[in-house]
Amino acid sequence: MVGAGLSGAVMARKLAEAGHLVTVCDERSHIAGNCYTERDADTGVMVHVYGPHIFHTDDEGVWDYVNRFANFLPFVNRVKTTSGGRVFLLPVNLHTINQFFNKTLRPDEAKEFITSIADQTIGEPKTFEDQALKFVGRDLYEAFFKGYTMKQWGVEPTQLPASILKRLPVRFNYDDNYFFHRFQGMPENGYTEMVEKILDHDNIELKLNTRYSRAESASYAHVFYSGPLDGYFDFELGRLGYRTLDFERFYYDGDYQGCAVMNYGDLDVPYTRITEHKHFSPWEKHEKSICYRESARSCEEGDIPYYPIRMADEKALLARYVERAGQEPGVTFVGRLGTYRYLDMDVTIREALDTADAYLNASANAQKL
Ligand code: FAD
Ligand code: UDP
Repeated sequence: MVGAGLSGAVMARKLAEAGHLVTVCDERSHIAGNCYTERDADTGVMVHVYGPHIFHTDDEGVWDYVNRFANFLPFVNRVKTTSGGRVFLLPVNLHTINQFFNKTLRPDEAKEFITSIADQTIGEPKTFEDQALKFVGRDLYEAFFKGYTMKQWGVEPTQLPASILKRLPVRFNYDDNYFFHRFQGMPENGYTEMVEKILDHDNIELKLNTRYSRAESASYAHVFYSGPLDGYFDFELGRLGYRTLDFERFYYDGDYQGCAVMNYGDLDVPYTRITEHKHFSPWEKHEKSICYRESARSCEEGDIPYYPIRMADEKALLARYVERAGQEPGVTFVGRLGTYRYLDMDVTIREALDTADAYLNASANAQKL
Protein backbone atom coordinates (compact mmCIF):
# COMPACT_ATOMS: atom_id res chain seq x y z
CA MET A 1 0.00 0.00 0.00
CA VAL A 2 1.67 3.20 -1.11
CA GLY A 3 0.54 6.15 1.00
CA ALA A 4 -0.70 6.22 4.60
CA GLY A 5 -3.47 8.73 3.90
CA LEU A 6 -7.13 7.79 4.07
CA SER A 7 -6.99 5.76 0.85
CA GLY A 8 -4.02 3.66 1.95
CA ALA A 9 -5.15 3.24 5.56
CA VAL A 10 -8.75 2.25 4.79
CA MET A 11 -7.72 -0.26 2.11
CA ALA A 12 -4.95 -1.70 4.29
CA ARG A 13 -7.41 -2.27 7.14
CA LYS A 14 -9.95 -4.00 4.93
CA LEU A 15 -7.34 -6.31 3.40
CA ALA A 16 -5.73 -6.98 6.79
CA GLU A 17 -9.11 -7.93 8.28
CA ALA A 18 -9.54 -10.39 5.40
CA GLY A 19 -6.26 -12.07 6.42
CA HIS A 20 -3.77 -10.44 4.03
CA LEU A 21 -0.40 -9.20 5.25
CA VAL A 22 -0.15 -5.55 4.23
CA THR A 23 2.85 -3.23 4.11
CA VAL A 24 1.95 0.47 4.14
CA CYS A 25 4.68 2.93 3.24
CA ASP A 26 4.66 6.72 3.13
CA GLU A 27 7.42 9.09 2.14
CA ARG A 28 6.32 11.53 4.83
CA SER A 29 7.34 11.19 8.47
CA HIS A 30 3.70 10.85 9.52
CA ILE A 31 0.46 9.05 8.69
CA ALA A 32 -2.94 10.52 7.63
CA GLY A 33 -1.76 12.22 4.41
CA ASN A 34 -3.32 15.64 3.88
CA CYS A 35 -5.84 15.10 6.68
CA TYR A 36 -2.94 15.13 9.17
CA THR A 37 -3.67 17.04 12.39
CA GLU A 38 -1.32 17.76 15.28
CA ARG A 39 -1.38 19.77 18.48
CA ASP A 40 0.54 23.02 18.25
CA ALA A 41 3.19 23.09 20.98
CA ASP A 42 2.71 26.79 21.86
CA THR A 43 -1.07 27.01 22.05
CA GLY A 44 -2.22 23.39 22.51
CA VAL A 45 -4.63 23.90 19.58
CA MET A 46 -5.32 20.99 17.22
CA VAL A 47 -4.00 22.19 13.86
CA HIS A 48 -5.09 21.00 10.40
CA VAL A 49 -1.57 21.09 9.03
CA TYR A 50 -2.41 20.77 5.31
CA GLY A 51 -5.48 23.00 5.39
CA PRO A 52 -8.94 22.83 6.97
CA HIS A 53 -10.71 19.47 6.89
CA ILE A 54 -14.39 19.17 7.78
CA PHE A 55 -15.97 15.75 7.58
CA HIS A 56 -19.36 15.69 5.85
CA THR A 57 -21.23 12.91 4.04
CA ASP A 58 -24.56 11.47 2.97
CA ASP A 59 -23.09 7.97 2.95
CA GLU A 60 -24.30 6.23 6.10
CA GLY A 61 -21.86 3.35 5.62
CA VAL A 62 -18.93 5.78 5.57
CA TRP A 63 -20.28 7.70 8.56
CA ASP A 64 -20.56 4.42 10.53
CA TYR A 65 -17.04 3.51 9.40
CA VAL A 66 -15.36 6.69 10.67
CA ASN A 67 -17.32 6.54 13.91
CA ARG A 68 -15.78 3.11 14.54
CA PHE A 69 -12.37 4.73 14.80
CA ALA A 70 -13.05 8.20 16.22
CA ASN A 71 -15.52 10.02 18.40
CA PHE A 72 -17.10 12.61 16.11
CA LEU A 73 -18.39 15.78 17.78
CA PRO A 74 -20.87 18.16 16.16
CA PHE A 75 -19.27 20.75 13.93
CA VAL A 76 -21.07 22.79 11.29
CA ASN A 77 -18.93 24.66 8.78
CA ARG A 78 -20.14 28.26 8.67
CA VAL A 79 -17.86 30.18 6.35
CA LYS A 80 -17.65 33.97 6.20
CA THR A 81 -16.22 36.11 3.45
CA THR A 82 -14.74 39.59 3.46
CA SER A 83 -15.41 41.58 0.31
CA GLY A 84 -15.19 45.31 -0.36
CA GLY A 85 -14.53 46.02 3.30
CA ARG A 86 -17.63 44.15 4.55
CA VAL A 87 -18.23 40.68 5.99
CA PHE A 88 -20.88 38.34 4.53
CA LEU A 89 -22.09 34.78 5.10
CA LEU A 90 -21.40 31.96 2.66
CA PRO A 91 -22.72 30.04 0.85
CA VAL A 92 -24.85 32.79 -0.71
CA ASN A 93 -28.09 32.67 1.28
CA LEU A 94 -30.98 34.97 2.12
CA HIS A 95 -28.91 36.83 4.69
CA THR A 96 -26.11 37.41 2.17
CA ILE A 97 -28.56 38.66 -0.46
CA ASN A 98 -30.42 41.01 1.90
CA GLN A 99 -27.21 42.37 3.42
CA PHE A 100 -25.42 42.80 0.09
CA PHE A 101 -28.32 44.59 -1.64
CA ASN A 102 -29.53 46.32 1.52
CA LYS A 103 -32.98 44.71 1.29
CA THR A 104 -35.44 42.80 3.51
CA LEU A 105 -36.63 40.21 0.98
CA ARG A 106 -38.51 37.04 1.90
CA PRO A 107 -37.48 33.77 0.19
CA ASP A 108 -39.78 33.93 -2.85
CA GLU A 109 -39.06 37.65 -3.31
CA ALA A 110 -35.32 36.97 -3.18
CA LYS A 111 -35.65 34.19 -5.73
CA GLU A 112 -37.52 36.54 -8.05
CA PHE A 113 -34.98 39.29 -7.48
CA ILE A 114 -31.96 37.05 -8.17
CA THR A 115 -33.67 35.70 -11.30
CA SER A 116 -34.16 39.31 -12.46
CA ILE A 117 -30.45 40.18 -12.05
CA ALA A 118 -29.04 36.81 -13.21
CA ASP A 119 -28.04 36.38 -16.83
CA GLN A 120 -30.90 34.38 -18.35
CA THR A 121 -29.38 34.39 -21.82
CA ILE A 122 -26.93 31.67 -20.76
CA GLY A 123 -28.15 28.17 -21.63
CA GLU A 124 -26.28 25.20 -20.15
CA PRO A 125 -23.30 26.92 -18.41
CA LYS A 126 -19.94 25.52 -19.50
CA THR A 127 -17.53 27.86 -17.71
CA PHE A 128 -17.24 28.91 -14.08
CA GLU A 129 -18.16 32.49 -15.05
CA ASP A 130 -21.29 31.43 -16.95
CA GLN A 131 -22.38 29.28 -14.03
CA ALA A 132 -21.99 32.22 -11.61
CA LEU A 133 -23.65 34.80 -13.88
CA LYS A 134 -26.57 32.48 -14.52
CA PHE A 135 -27.22 31.70 -10.87
CA VAL A 136 -26.28 34.81 -8.88
CA GLY A 137 -25.72 37.64 -11.40
CA ARG A 138 -22.74 39.89 -11.94
CA ASP A 139 -22.64 41.83 -8.63
CA LEU A 140 -22.48 38.80 -6.34
CA TYR A 141 -20.17 37.02 -8.79
CA GLU A 142 -17.67 39.87 -8.76
CA ALA A 143 -17.84 40.35 -4.99
CA PHE A 144 -17.47 36.74 -3.87
CA PHE A 145 -16.32 34.51 -6.70
CA LYS A 146 -14.31 36.24 -9.40
CA GLY A 147 -11.33 37.47 -7.35
CA TYR A 148 -11.25 34.44 -5.07
CA THR A 149 -11.32 32.05 -8.01
CA MET A 150 -8.57 33.90 -9.89
CA LYS A 151 -6.38 33.69 -6.77
CA GLN A 152 -7.25 30.03 -6.18
CA TRP A 153 -6.80 28.78 -9.75
CA GLY A 154 -4.48 31.37 -11.32
CA VAL A 155 -6.62 31.74 -14.45
CA GLU A 156 -9.69 33.69 -15.56
CA PRO A 157 -12.98 32.06 -14.47
CA THR A 158 -13.92 31.94 -18.18
CA GLN A 159 -11.23 29.25 -18.56
CA LEU A 160 -12.51 27.06 -15.71
CA PRO A 161 -15.25 24.42 -15.90
CA ALA A 162 -18.68 25.20 -14.39
CA SER A 163 -18.36 22.08 -12.23
CA ILE A 164 -16.03 23.86 -9.74
CA LEU A 165 -18.80 26.25 -8.70
CA LYS A 166 -21.55 23.64 -8.83
CA ARG A 167 -20.24 22.37 -5.50
CA LEU A 168 -21.53 25.57 -3.82
CA PRO A 169 -25.29 26.02 -3.33
CA VAL A 170 -27.33 29.27 -3.40
CA ARG A 171 -30.01 29.27 -0.71
CA PHE A 172 -33.16 31.31 -0.41
CA ASN A 173 -33.42 30.84 3.36
CA TYR A 174 -31.15 31.69 6.29
CA ASP A 175 -29.31 28.35 6.30
CA ASP A 176 -25.58 29.18 6.28
CA ASN A 177 -24.32 25.60 6.66
CA TYR A 178 -21.59 25.36 4.00
CA PHE A 179 -22.49 21.73 3.32
CA PHE A 180 -25.86 20.09 2.76
CA HIS A 181 -25.01 16.53 3.80
CA ARG A 182 -26.89 14.65 6.51
CA PHE A 183 -23.78 13.91 8.58
CA GLN A 184 -21.12 16.44 9.53
CA GLY A 185 -18.61 16.57 12.35
CA MET A 186 -15.06 16.71 13.58
CA PRO A 187 -13.09 13.87 15.22
CA GLU A 188 -12.63 14.84 18.86
CA ASN A 189 -8.89 14.12 18.91
CA GLY A 190 -8.10 14.94 15.30
CA TYR A 191 -7.78 12.92 12.09
CA THR A 192 -4.31 11.57 12.87
CA GLU A 193 -5.60 9.58 15.83
CA MET A 194 -8.45 8.23 13.69
CA VAL A 195 -6.04 7.04 10.97
CA GLU A 196 -3.72 5.61 13.64
CA LYS A 197 -6.60 3.44 14.86
CA ILE A 198 -7.50 2.37 11.32
CA LEU A 199 -3.90 1.24 10.80
CA ASP A 200 -3.72 -0.51 14.17
CA HIS A 201 -3.97 -4.14 13.07
CA ASP A 202 -1.58 -7.07 13.52
CA ASN A 203 -1.48 -7.73 9.77
CA ILE A 204 -0.38 -4.17 8.93
CA GLU A 205 3.26 -3.14 8.85
CA LEU A 206 3.86 0.63 8.62
CA LYS A 207 7.00 2.13 7.11
CA LEU A 208 7.27 5.92 7.31
CA ASN A 209 9.95 8.04 5.59
CA THR A 210 9.87 5.42 2.86
CA ARG A 211 9.47 6.48 -0.72
CA TYR A 212 8.11 3.88 -3.11
CA SER A 213 9.22 3.61 -6.70
CA ARG A 214 7.92 1.67 -9.67
CA ALA A 215 10.90 -0.70 -9.69
CA GLU A 216 9.63 -2.29 -6.45
CA SER A 217 6.27 -3.35 -7.88
CA ALA A 218 7.40 -6.88 -8.68
CA SER A 219 8.19 -7.57 -4.99
CA TYR A 220 4.55 -7.57 -3.93
CA ALA A 221 1.49 -9.73 -4.74
CA HIS A 222 -0.36 -6.52 -5.53
CA VAL A 223 0.34 -2.80 -5.13
CA PHE A 224 -2.26 -0.14 -4.36
CA TYR A 225 -0.71 3.20 -5.18
CA SER A 226 -2.18 6.44 -3.77
CA GLY A 227 0.72 8.70 -4.79
CA PRO A 228 0.68 10.98 -7.88
CA LEU A 229 -0.18 9.12 -11.08
CA ASP A 230 2.39 11.01 -13.21
CA GLY A 231 5.05 10.58 -10.47
CA TYR A 232 4.68 6.79 -10.63
CA PHE A 233 5.81 6.92 -14.28
CA ASP A 234 8.61 9.39 -13.49
CA PHE A 235 6.66 12.11 -15.37
CA GLU A 236 7.58 10.36 -18.64
CA LEU A 237 4.71 11.94 -20.55
CA GLY A 238 4.93 15.31 -18.77
CA ARG A 239 3.52 16.76 -15.55
CA LEU A 240 -0.15 16.87 -14.65
CA GLY A 241 -0.99 20.39 -13.46
CA TYR A 242 -1.70 21.01 -9.79
CA ARG A 243 -2.20 24.04 -7.58
CA THR A 244 -0.16 24.04 -4.43
CA LEU A 245 -0.86 26.01 -1.26
CA ASP A 246 1.30 28.18 0.99
CA PHE A 247 0.27 28.51 4.63
CA GLU A 248 1.68 31.47 6.52
CA ARG A 249 1.36 30.64 10.20
CA PHE A 250 0.77 33.36 12.78
CA TYR A 251 -0.19 33.55 16.42
CA TYR A 252 -2.67 35.80 18.18
CA ASP A 253 -3.30 36.40 21.85
CA GLY A 254 -7.08 35.86 21.99
CA ASP A 255 -9.66 35.37 19.27
CA TYR A 256 -8.35 36.63 15.92
CA GLN A 257 -11.41 36.46 13.67
CA GLY A 258 -14.21 34.82 15.68
CA CYS A 259 -14.75 31.93 13.23
CA ALA A 260 -12.88 29.00 11.74
CA VAL A 261 -12.78 30.10 8.07
CA MET A 262 -12.79 33.64 6.67
CA ASN A 263 -12.54 33.87 2.87
CA TYR A 264 -11.27 36.96 1.07
CA GLY A 265 -13.11 37.72 -2.17
CA ASP A 266 -11.06 40.75 -3.29
CA LEU A 267 -8.32 40.21 -5.85
CA ASP A 268 -6.03 42.80 -4.26
CA VAL A 269 -5.86 40.79 -1.02
CA PRO A 270 -3.13 38.27 -1.89
CA TYR A 271 -4.46 35.35 0.17
CA THR A 272 -7.68 33.37 -0.34
CA ARG A 273 -8.62 32.64 3.25
CA ILE A 274 -7.55 32.63 6.90
CA THR A 275 -8.27 29.64 9.09
CA GLU A 276 -8.25 29.97 12.87
CA HIS A 277 -7.75 26.43 14.04
CA LYS A 278 -9.11 26.59 17.58
CA HIS A 279 -12.59 27.17 16.15
CA PHE A 280 -12.47 23.71 14.56
CA SER A 281 -12.62 22.26 18.10
CA PRO A 282 -15.24 24.49 19.77
CA TRP A 283 -15.50 22.05 22.70
CA GLU A 284 -11.89 22.91 23.70
CA LYS A 285 -10.99 26.19 25.40
CA HIS A 286 -7.78 27.94 24.35
CA GLU A 287 -6.74 31.49 25.20
CA LYS A 288 -4.12 31.74 22.48
CA SER A 289 -4.74 31.24 18.82
CA ILE A 290 -2.90 29.90 15.80
CA CYS A 291 -4.02 30.90 12.31
CA TYR A 292 -3.04 30.05 8.73
CA ARG A 293 -3.09 32.65 5.99
CA GLU A 294 -3.58 30.53 2.84
CA SER A 295 -2.64 31.33 -0.72
CA ALA A 296 -2.47 29.22 -3.87
CA ARG A 297 0.06 29.09 -6.69
CA SER A 298 1.16 26.82 -9.49
CA CYS A 299 2.76 23.58 -8.24
CA GLU A 300 6.45 23.22 -9.12
CA GLU A 301 8.80 20.30 -8.59
CA GLY A 302 9.19 19.66 -4.85
CA ASP A 303 5.89 21.37 -3.89
CA ILE A 304 2.97 19.43 -2.42
CA PRO A 305 0.31 18.82 -5.09
CA TYR A 306 -3.06 19.88 -3.62
CA TYR A 307 -5.68 20.63 -6.27
CA PRO A 308 -5.72 18.85 -9.67
CA ILE A 309 -6.37 21.52 -12.30
CA ARG A 310 -8.10 19.30 -14.89
CA MET A 311 -8.31 21.79 -17.74
CA ALA A 312 -8.36 20.65 -21.38
CA ASP A 313 -4.55 20.09 -21.61
CA GLU A 314 -4.44 18.14 -18.37
CA LYS A 315 -7.39 15.98 -19.40
CA ALA A 316 -5.62 14.93 -22.58
CA LEU A 317 -2.44 14.09 -20.68
CA LEU A 318 -4.45 12.34 -17.98
CA ALA A 319 -6.06 10.09 -20.59
CA ARG A 320 -2.59 8.97 -21.71
CA TYR A 321 -1.47 8.27 -18.13
CA VAL A 322 -4.71 6.40 -17.40
CA GLU A 323 -4.02 4.20 -20.41
CA ARG A 324 -0.51 3.52 -19.09
CA ALA A 325 -1.88 2.76 -15.63
CA GLY A 326 -4.32 0.25 -17.10
CA GLN A 327 -1.39 -1.65 -18.63
CA GLU A 328 0.64 -1.81 -15.40
CA PRO A 329 0.33 -5.40 -14.13
CA GLY A 330 -0.43 -5.92 -10.42
CA VAL A 331 -0.90 -2.21 -9.62
CA THR A 332 -4.14 -0.38 -8.81
CA PHE A 333 -4.12 3.42 -8.74
CA VAL A 334 -6.31 4.88 -6.01
CA GLY A 335 -7.17 8.06 -4.14
CA ARG A 336 -6.89 11.75 -4.84
CA LEU A 337 -3.42 11.69 -6.40
CA GLY A 338 -3.51 8.21 -7.92
CA THR A 339 -6.62 9.07 -9.94
CA TYR A 340 -5.94 12.82 -10.27
CA ARG A 341 -9.37 13.87 -9.02
CA TYR A 342 -10.58 16.22 -6.30
CA LEU A 343 -12.03 13.79 -3.76
CA ASP A 344 -13.59 14.69 -0.43
CA MET A 345 -12.71 12.44 2.50
CA ASP A 346 -16.02 10.58 2.46
CA VAL A 347 -15.72 9.76 -1.25
CA THR A 348 -12.10 8.72 -0.71
CA ILE A 349 -13.19 6.29 2.02
CA ARG A 350 -16.11 4.93 -0.01
CA GLU A 351 -13.85 4.29 -3.02
CA ALA A 352 -11.18 2.68 -0.82
CA LEU A 353 -13.72 0.31 0.76
CA ASP A 354 -15.21 -0.60 -2.63
CA THR A 355 -11.82 -1.08 -4.31
CA ALA A 356 -10.66 -3.37 -1.50
CA ASP A 357 -13.93 -5.34 -1.73
CA ALA A 358 -13.51 -5.73 -5.49
CA TYR A 359 -9.94 -6.98 -5.01
CA LEU A 360 -11.00 -9.46 -2.32
CA ASN A 361 -13.87 -10.77 -4.46
CA ALA A 362 -11.61 -11.14 -7.50
CA SER A 363 -9.00 -13.03 -5.41
CA ALA A 364 -11.69 -15.31 -3.95
CA ASN A 365 -13.07 -16.05 -7.43
CA ALA A 366 -9.58 -16.74 -8.80
CA GLN A 367 -8.99 -19.27 -6.02
CA LYS A 368 -12.22 -21.09 -6.87
CA LEU A 369 -11.12 -21.64 -10.49
P1 FAD B 1 -3.43 11.91 0.53
O1 FAD B 1 -4.03 12.36 1.82
O2 FAD B 1 -2.78 12.93 -0.33
O3 FAD B 1 -2.39 10.74 0.86
C1 FAD B 1 -1.46 10.26 -0.07
C2 FAD B 1 -0.19 9.86 0.66
O4 FAD B 1 0.68 9.19 -0.25
C3 FAD B 1 0.58 11.06 1.22
O5 FAD B 1 0.76 10.93 2.62
C4 FAD B 1 1.91 11.03 0.47
O6 FAD B 1 3.01 11.41 1.28
C5 FAD B 1 2.01 9.56 0.08
N1 FAD B 1 2.85 9.32 -1.11
C6 FAD B 1 2.76 9.90 -2.31
N2 FAD B 1 3.68 9.40 -3.17
C7 FAD B 1 4.38 8.47 -2.48
C8 FAD B 1 5.48 7.59 -2.81
N3 FAD B 1 6.01 7.52 -4.03
N4 FAD B 1 5.97 6.76 -1.84
C9 FAD B 1 5.43 6.79 -0.58
N5 FAD B 1 4.40 7.60 -0.24
C10 FAD B 1 3.88 8.43 -1.15
N6 FAD B 1 -12.09 16.67 2.19
C11 FAD B 1 -13.22 16.77 2.96
O7 FAD B 1 -14.01 15.81 3.01
N7 FAD B 1 -13.48 17.88 3.71
C12 FAD B 1 -12.66 18.97 3.70
O8 FAD B 1 -12.94 19.97 4.37
C13 FAD B 1 -11.49 18.91 2.91
N8 FAD B 1 -10.64 19.95 2.88
C14 FAD B 1 -9.54 19.90 2.07
C15 FAD B 1 -8.70 21.01 2.07
C16 FAD B 1 -7.57 20.99 1.27
C17 FAD B 1 -6.67 22.19 1.25
C18 FAD B 1 -7.30 19.86 0.45
C19 FAD B 1 -6.12 19.85 -0.47
C20 FAD B 1 -8.11 18.74 0.49
C21 FAD B 1 -9.25 18.75 1.31
N9 FAD B 1 -10.08 17.64 1.38
C22 FAD B 1 -11.23 17.73 2.16
C23 FAD B 1 -9.79 16.39 0.65
C24 FAD B 1 -8.95 15.39 1.47
O9 FAD B 1 -7.70 15.97 1.78
C25 FAD B 1 -8.78 14.09 0.65
O10 FAD B 1 -10.04 13.49 0.48
C26 FAD B 1 -7.85 13.05 1.27
O11 FAD B 1 -6.66 13.60 1.75
C27 FAD B 1 -7.51 11.99 0.24
O12 FAD B 1 -6.73 10.98 0.83
P2 FAD B 1 -5.68 10.14 -0.03
O13 FAD B 1 -5.19 9.09 0.86
O14 FAD B 1 -6.26 9.76 -1.33
O15 FAD B 1 -4.54 11.21 -0.38
N1 UDP C 1 -15.13 29.92 -4.37
C1 UDP C 1 -15.14 31.30 -4.54
N2 UDP C 1 -15.27 32.09 -3.44
C2 UDP C 1 -15.38 31.58 -2.18
C3 UDP C 1 -15.37 30.18 -2.03
C4 UDP C 1 -15.24 29.38 -3.15
O1 UDP C 1 -15.00 31.80 -5.64
O2 UDP C 1 -15.47 32.37 -1.22
C5 UDP C 1 -14.98 29.09 -5.60
C6 UDP C 1 -13.50 28.73 -5.83
O3 UDP C 1 -13.26 28.72 -7.23
C7 UDP C 1 -13.39 27.35 -5.26
C8 UDP C 1 -14.78 26.76 -5.59
O4 UDP C 1 -15.68 27.88 -5.46
O5 UDP C 1 -12.36 26.62 -5.85
C9 UDP C 1 -15.22 25.63 -4.69
O6 UDP C 1 -15.26 26.08 -3.35
P1 UDP C 1 -14.94 25.13 -2.13
O7 UDP C 1 -15.18 25.89 -0.87
O8 UDP C 1 -15.67 23.84 -2.34
O9 UDP C 1 -13.37 24.97 -2.31
P2 UDP C 1 -12.34 23.95 -1.66
O10 UDP C 1 -12.94 23.38 -0.40
O11 UDP C 1 -12.15 22.96 -2.75
O12 UDP C 1 -11.15 24.80 -1.42
